[in-house]
Amino acid sequence: MGESVNLFEINSLYKCYNQKEKPKVYAVYNLNLTIKKRETLGLVGESGCGKSTLGKMLLKLEQPTRGTIIFNQQDITNYSFNQMRKIRNGMQMIFQGNANAFNPYFPVEQIIREPLDNYSHESKEKKREKIVAMLEKVGLNKTYLTRYGHEMSGGQRQRVGIARALILNPEFVVCDEAVSSIDYALKNQILTLLTDLKKQFGLTYLFISHDIAAVNKICDRVIVMYLGNIVEIIPNINDKVQHPYTKALLAATLIPDPRKREKSRVLFKETEEIKIPEKGCVFQNRCLYAQQVCTIEPPALVSKDNEHYVACHLYQ
Ligand code: SF4
Repeated sequence: MGESVNLFEINSLYKCYNQKEKPKVYAVYNLNLTIKKRETLGLVGESGCGKSTLGKMLLKLEQPTRGTIIFNQQDITNYSFNQMRKIRNGMQMIFQGNANAFNPYFPVEQIIREPLDNYSHESKEKKREKIVAMLEKVGLNKTYLTRYGHEMSGGQRQRVGIARALILNPEFVVCDEAVSSIDYALKNQILTLLTDLKKQFGLTYLFISHDIAAVNKICDRVIVMYLGNIVEIIPNINDKVQHPYTKALLAATLIPDPRKREKSRVLFKETEEIKIPEKGCVFQNRCLYAQQVCTIEPPALVSKDNEHYVACHLYQ
């Protein structure tokens, strides 16, 4: 059996945004989760479901409203900027590799060197050696040192983004829609690269995506979020999913034939505005199976089988 020590323990985590003269909006609501060392944990859901907010809170780029975040057995929830600086190099983020991802006036060498300059006092030559070695790890070479973002394809920019994220030897990497802006053929190459790098460097990934096919390819476990709540945790997305939202999400995206995909939309109830209900199940307004209890009691996230959890009254 491989290592299964927890890298993160997240307890009762909330992120609430106060809007003037409007009800509070929870981007993340009472979230409990562990992330094991060296796993690739997928995080799926529609845009606005709280996926990116959760990723940013784990990196402390956003401060939680309530709850605790334990990283490597340290409670980092209220760490100051200086305290975070000591561990920041251990946690990095890969963004979408689109043309706006990098400063257009910086060549690749400067883009990748920036984090090194923040954390290392090595000579410029030593840093360049490291950058070239990292470029080779991501399938590029030293001729890219002088290129600018607009001189590269989406796939090449994404490789540079990965090199930048890994140059400080992090332990944890949040991949936020990391393969969203590249075409299908390149997507598989980047996913294979991420998997290889994970093995080489012993990385732990939080892989945030609305692309279930990509998640299916790369992840060990998958979390499904809806309006800030975890509705299902699946040890393997090929396993039988149970939550009505997960089923609808899968049906709408994993079917190659768009005519059949269209049909699967009836798994969602149409609503004019998707908003968090005041009580009961968070998915009740769109769920075809909602019962009276769903409008009153929020379903608990309960274990079905080993490591498979679902929050739905149909299974409780
Ligand atoms: Fe649907 Fe009720 Fe299950 Fe929520 S708890 S997903 S409303 S059946």
